[in-house]
Amino acid sequence: MKLTHEIVSLRTKHVFTIARGGASAHRVNLVTITDTDGAFGVGEANPSRFYGENPDTAAVVLEQFATIIEKADGWSLEAIETEMGKMWRGNGSAKSAVMAALYDLMGKRLGVPLYKMWGLDPSKAPLSSFTIGVAPEAELRAKVQEAAEYPLLKVKLGTPDDADIIRIIREEAPDKILRVDANAAWTPKHALDMIALLSEYEVEFVEQPLPPENVEGLRYVRDRSPLPIIADESCLVASDIPKLAGVVDGINIKLAKCGGPREALRMIAVARAHDMSVMMGCMIETSVGITTAAHLSPLLDYADLDGAALLAADPYTGATIHGSVISIPSGPGLGVAKA
Ligand SMILES: [Mg+2]
Repeated sequence: MKLTHEIVSLRTKHVFTIARGGASAHRVNLVTITDTDGAFGVGEANPSRFYGENPDTAAVVLEQFATIIEKADGWSLEAIETEMGKMWRGNGSAKSAVMAALYDLMGKRLGVPLYKMWGLDPSKAPLSSFTIGVAPEAELRAKVQEAAEYPLLKVKLGTPDDADIIRIIREEAPDKILRVDANAAWTPKHALDMIALLSEYEVEFVEQPLPPENVEGLRYVRDRSPLPIIADESCLVASDIPKLAGVVDGINIKLAKCGGPREALRMIAVARAHDMSVMMGCMIETSVGITTAAHLSPLLDYADLDGAALLAADPYTGATIHGSVISIPSGPGLGVAKA
């Protein structure tokens, strides 16, 4: 088989800002794995600097993974994943792109969508939230208006203006379910003050209030919090989960962190074994990346798969989240197509 890859630039409708900063241009790596008979699968890497990757490092790593793919056959997912793990630690997004392309190829050969291969019922997918990034008041109000079709909003906090942001959004969206993501920006004491306020605004849960390494802080906050706490930056792969049991209520899985659908499935199993809830999130992604995650979504309690919905133009079609309802394509493999 042959692995080819390219870096693609995406633009979001609006500058997308979180506690760590903002951008309107996002680069991702699209991967194609083609077998000798011409059958192919596609996958996407969404590298994040926060996890030690960028599109250029991912391209270098993918070039090396191509040497594994060259000698492998398209059914050997276990062997390929193991080989990639021996070659590079981390680099979750590059690994995920390869695994997604292999699954896409496998599903196409079997003539079934991935959710069916995994025995899942697409109607069991939870609603997806739509994210409102950090912005000044007028823009914030406009963003909430623009998101009218979504009954479920995820609000990015972790700024000096958090109290105003949540008040403004609750004013604009009195009946919507609101979730909050602090992106690791708070201290334990500030988190408890904020959570008391968020609780008054009937927020559903809080994602990653503290820096990822502050596990005891998370336990302290969770023990005193009326709202559930979900770990995102603290939880990359399945082996991160046992130490978070009893520390947070749930985990947020991202393909870009964990290395692909196989590790995501392991994370779901480990989280369930520890009686934790499971969410799946995303980066700014095309429909290739979002659709890969969407096929797993029937296994989730919470979904935040709006990465492609935030784009000004999506180079692919695939899963959609109209009105927060996740629709997973029923074509073979990922079921994505060039737009
Ligand atoms: Mg998050």
